Amino acid sequence: MAGQMKLTVPDLGDFADVEVIEVLVSPGDTVEVEDGLVTLETDKAAMDVPASQAGTIVSVDVNVGDTVNAGDVVATIEASSDAPAAEAPVESPEGDSDEFVVTTVMSPEEIAEVTGSKPEAAPVEAETDHQAQLVVLGAGPGGYTAAFRAADLGMDVILVERWPMLGGVCLNVGCIPSKALLHAAKVIDEAAEMSKHGVTFGVPKVDAAKLRDWKQSVVDRLVGGLSTLAKQRKVKVVHGTAKFGSPKHLVLDSGETIGFEQCIIAAGSEAMMLPGLPDDPRIVDSTGALELDPLPQKMLVVGGGIIGLEMACVYAALGTEVSVVELTDSLMPGTDPDLIRPFMKVVKHRYASIMTSTKVTGMRATTPGIEVTFEGKNAPSVGVYDRVLVAIGRRANGDKIDADKAGVNVDERGIIAVDKQMRTNVPHIYAIGDLAGGPMLAHKATHEAKVAAEVASGEKSYFDARTIPSVAYTDPEVAWVGLTETEAKADGIEYEKAQFPWAASGRSLAIGRDEGMTKLLFDPKTHRVLGGAMVGTNAGDLIAEVGLAVEMGADATDISLTVHAHPTLSETVAFAAEAYDGTLTDLYIPKRKKR
Ligand SMILES: Cc1cc2nc3c(=O)[nH]c(=O)nc-3n(C[C@H](O)[C@H](O)[C@H](O)COP(=O)(O)OP(=O)(O)OC[C@H]3O[C@@H](n4cnc5c(N)ncnc54)[C@H](O)[C@@H]3O)c2cc1C
Repeated sequence: MAGQMKLTVPDLGDFADVEVIEVLVSPGDTVEVEDGLVTLETDKAAMDVPASQAGTIVSVDVNVGDTVNAGDVVATIEASSDAPAAEAPVESPEGDSDEFVVTTVMSPEEIAEVTGSKPEAAPVEAETDHQAQLVVLGAGPGGYTAAFRAADLGMDVILVERWPMLGGVCLNVGCIPSKALLHAAKVIDEAAEMSKHGVTFGVPKVDAAKLRDWKQSVVDRLVGGLSTLAKQRKVKVVHGTAKFGSPKHLVLDSGETIGFEQCIIAAGSEAMMLPGLPDDPRIVDSTGALELDPLPQKMLVVGGGIIGLEMACVYAALGTEVSVVELTDSLMPGTDPDLIRPFMKVVKHRYASIMTSTKVTGMRATTPGIEVTFEGKNAPSVGVYDRVLVAIGRRANGDKIDADKAGVNVDERGIIAVDKQMRTNVPHIYAIGDLAGGPMLAHKATHEAKVAAEVASGEKSYFDARTIPSVAYTDPEVAWVGLTETEAKADGIEYEKAQFPWAASGRSLAIGRDEGMTKLLFDPKTHRVLGGAMVGTNAGDLIAEVGLAVEMGADATDISLTVHAHPTLSETVAFAAEAYDGTLTDLYIPKRKKR
């Protein structure tokens, strides 16, 4: 294609008279498809108008300060004869979209038409109702990320989801709604805390229905945004429960079939329940607990892992009398004991009881409540609760999708083994997220998703992150990344440790919380950071610096010489590094002994 063409503003959804805040090109500039021409700004977002055609700019037809609408000419271009043009901008979806940067891609067939090269024919066994180069099974954080990344790389993608909403567990019934409720809990707890320091608020009145509506509005906003992003990328979303029919197609519960050249399995996990429980609405999993319906007076949380403890934190703040029962001898099993001690100091006053080394032996539904029997040294033999949350872990969904029909191996835990490129034992089928083994965390799923999508599109990507951070968003928060002391001791890994107690942090004292602690583990030879952990307010945000240090191979001096703003909790990371380097002045620590 050659000759002069007008480049116009794409559909802007609900926006009109949008201001040009920057002109990015000048006459004579050569641009590629998708290069920004001008930047527009609304009260909600700034975005570039991309070139839909490669070539040389002949004239720029707008100035900074002008206002433009969809269809207005931005620039005129002399199209280069060999350059492919992008499709016409996709239609902006309905609704309130913050993100309407238009991504235009060509299908392999269209590229072939322009370039004369032939795409490889899709090896399909039989006619299917839908067909795509890449089918992604499951639209959680793993699935939607994989679908969007693959579409951005030029693949035609179908995303299959059994629920009416995209976003999976994380957005709908996991990370996001739980964090919205934890925010409410934090406000209540902090307000109560201040009464010790001379600022007293009244007893909070909790309108559970309104709180639930707000939580849902947060979820809806994010989930709605995903549909918009899928439309913008031309990812076709097909709703239905899918199973494999063969290594080349899925079958939906409706009977429809979807053929693919490659497939990414991202079907996630589900909450596990104790066997033999009565069928009673007062016994819930984490999804039920997020409903706050109604707020119980007395609640038992079965399972002292992260999900159970986060929900315990929410309900206790909202006024419920909470008890926690845990089979092992510690809350957050497997977490370094020195992180759990400060955590326990705070939560033991908040909960009616914390029963570790205790087993739930039975539950009976009675009119006054769920009668629970226990076996353990710290437990009563029986307790009665208005609500029981069972949070004993999650099980991968690998064995619910007839993976055997595709020849994909699934283990007895529902996990599908993958290599560093996220390939299963069947090379054109990938698995990511909760069902691919490793920690069941959204950020792990999204990183794996990008690798799988990139490999499927022909890039040489690998999942070779050194570490994946873990965070309990409880109060106080507990976070760790890289090597932990528990692992180091179990595996005989040599390490040296430095720690900084938050009682010596000005910021920690100024927010009325001094129970925290930051520790760093170092390689004794290179002094590089092997891992780190912290307990305290905002530990989940602060751990990012330690993660970066591990990934970058930073040593103690790299951190201690990095100027951290004062007074911040982030200084505790620097102080721990200074303690290791022997340069800490904020605290007197006797010289460390050689291990
Ligand atoms: C209460 C709670 C709080 C959490 N908090 C955090 C947190 O703070 N941080 C964090 O990192 N992680 C958190 N998690 C974990 C996080 O939600 C998961 O690790 C993450 O959602 C996994 O993403 P995924 O894409 O692998 O699977 P999922 O999110 O489980 O998505 C899988 C999708 O596949 C669909 N699906 C399954 N089978 C089929 C089928 N046969 N056909 C069609 N569709 C199918 C499902 O409907 C679902 O939408 C939390 C989880 C819970 C329960």
